[in-house]
Amino acid sequence: MIIQLENEVNGEVLLSVEKELQSLKYKTTHVQTQYGSYLVGTGKKPFDIRKIGHLRGIKDIHVVSDDYKLVSAKWKVNPTVVDLGDAVKIGGGHFSLMAGPCSIEGEENIMDTIAFLKANNIKIMRGGVYKPRSSPYSFRGLGIDGLKLWYKLAKENGIKIISEVMQVSQIEAMHDYVDIFQVGARNTQNFNLLDELGKVDKPVLLKRGISGTIDELLQSAEYIFSGGNERLLLCERGIRTYEKASRNTFDINAIPILKEKSHLPVIADPSHGIGIRDHVGPIAMASTVAGADGVIFETHCRPEEAFSDGQQTLDYDEATKLIKKLRLLSNTIAS
Ligand code: PEP
Ligand code: MN
Repeated sequence: MIIQLENEVNGEVLLSVEKELQSLKYKTTHVQTQYGSYLVGTGKKPFDIRKIGHLRGIKDIHVVSDDYKLVSAKWKVNPTVVDLGDAVKIGGGHFSLMAGPCSIEGEENIMDTIAFLKANNIKIMRGGVYKPRSSPYSFRGLGIDGLKLWYKLAKENGIKIISEVMQVSQIEAMHDYVDIFQVGARNTQNFNLLDELGKVDKPVLLKRGISGTIDELLQSAEYIFSGGNERLLLCERGIRTYEKASRNTFDINAIPILKEKSHLPVIADPSHGIGIRDHVGPIAMASTVAGADGVIFETHCRPEEAFSDGQQTLDYDEATKLIKKLRLLSNTIAS
């Protein structure tokens, strides 16, 4: 159950609502986000909501039986729009593209990506400065100095940036130099990290875990929302299955299902989803048709020289063609 509270609700009024719910054997959690104040009630036995409807401080009551509540579409019918400022919006009909290298490699790499993005009117650049690599001997990213340089150059050029945060201790240092925090597939159930990102006033893109179910993704998103941060994006990036012909098995089903179950924007990552350069475009297009609110993909001026994930990275010609197709598709679907 979600009880939407008046925004200015005082401690005394809150306590009386909590007491009433507890007397009905409901556990209560008060959630204060950037936008609203909520009381989440969990209990075994449903009760007639008219029993509490008269209490002071209550704006609305919603019965949500799913394990995840605040991210559920059952109480919030309108889609969430994540606003990054400067007219850059994601979700609710704002189809959004994010592109860039797997890893940020240095000034030249940043500047040629920015030029590519500007030429294609893409407002959000992706790139990792902390890279989760299977081998400790692979390139693991430029770290905070790389992020600072990247952010400065991007800002000067009107580009927003999304970058992965791998652990709690990185949040503070990264905070002023990202527009969106990315939580990678290896950290989807790092609950300490999710808790801390709940306290941050920056949007978070949460990827689906390597072997995570749709439900687990939504429950992880619930951690961040219930921690106080409503500015969330969900991302399908493929899951591990018995199939060896592709890097991961991109779960196209997840897109309409997530859109049905949640009010949060859903972003597709076809690069990690299939992991094969020639097939990234078709999966990106399929995701758009399936209802994704945007696509994040890897691009590099010379993919064969990329520091990481070159095998799934589009060159600028391929990326330019794909962007045109994706925009055409999304406009066609919207019309
Ligand atoms: C990435 O986006 O570069 C990345 C490492 O993705 P994932 O967490 O989906 O593997
Ligand atoms: Mn990558």
